[in-house]
Amino acid sequence: MEKKQFSVIGLGRFGGSICKELYSIGHEVMAIDLSEDKVEEYGEYSTHAIQLDSTDERSLINVGIRNFDEVIVAIGDDIQASVLTTLLLKELGIKKVVVKAQNDYHHKVLEKIGADVIVHPEYETAKRVAHNLSSDTLIDFIDLSEEYSIAELLATSKMNNRSLAELDIRAKYGVTVLAYKDQDHVNIAPSPDDLIQRGTILVVMGHKSGLERFENTAF
Ligand code: ATP
Repeated sequence: MEKKQFSVIGLGRFGGSICKELYSIGHEVMAIDLSEDKVEEYGEYSTHAIQLDSTDERSLINVGIRNFDEVIVAIGDDIQASVLTTLLLKELGIKKVVVKAQNDYHHKVLEKIGADVIVHPEYETAKRVAHNLSSDTLIDFIDLSEEYSIAELLATSKMNNRSLAELDIRAKYGVTVLAYKDQDHVNIAPSPDDLIQRGTILVVMGHKSGLERFENTAF
């Protein structure tokens, strides 16, 4: 793994978890917060933990923020501080600024001022959990766009011992099987003769309507 340098600004639940996770994976992480208590708490979960107000350009420059390729802005309630921090970071030339948005208005402003990635963690987690709860076969999914997704689906007994050719998934649903997983073995770009067993995990990509039809009829 390539070791990267990240800075996380705002050590609430979201920023704090990102900081801990990046640091435990082995990246260099500079953690920043306005609160002295937070900085003390995150000393052991980051490479450096620094107390400063990220809306102050001078302070950001002084801690060398320009040496970081990726900065995560996880300031929640103070939308003005989140927007101003993002603006300063883009002006200072940070290549990738990832920002947690509180609501749609915040999102729109962040888009306008050049935030590179905007995340809504509560909404995204809720959507994922709701999908998983509503289906016995859907394990996980990634939205590629408004229309296309990749999904992991658990094969049921209806598919047991049937080949991919027999299941004819692409012709019937317009869905492509990218890979399948049996126990710990992952088969990428499978052949049409490969047999699917109950419990196999299929990794499929396609239009959301096709994926939905596939999930509702083939499983
Ligand atoms: P979460 O839901 O992830 O816990 P939150 O919405 O509760 O987040 P806040 O508590 O509002 O988020 O903010 C997260 C952190 O950002 C806080 O620890 C706060 O001290 C810090 N913070 C707020 N403003 C600034 C600022 N100007 N500079 C640096 N840190 C800041």
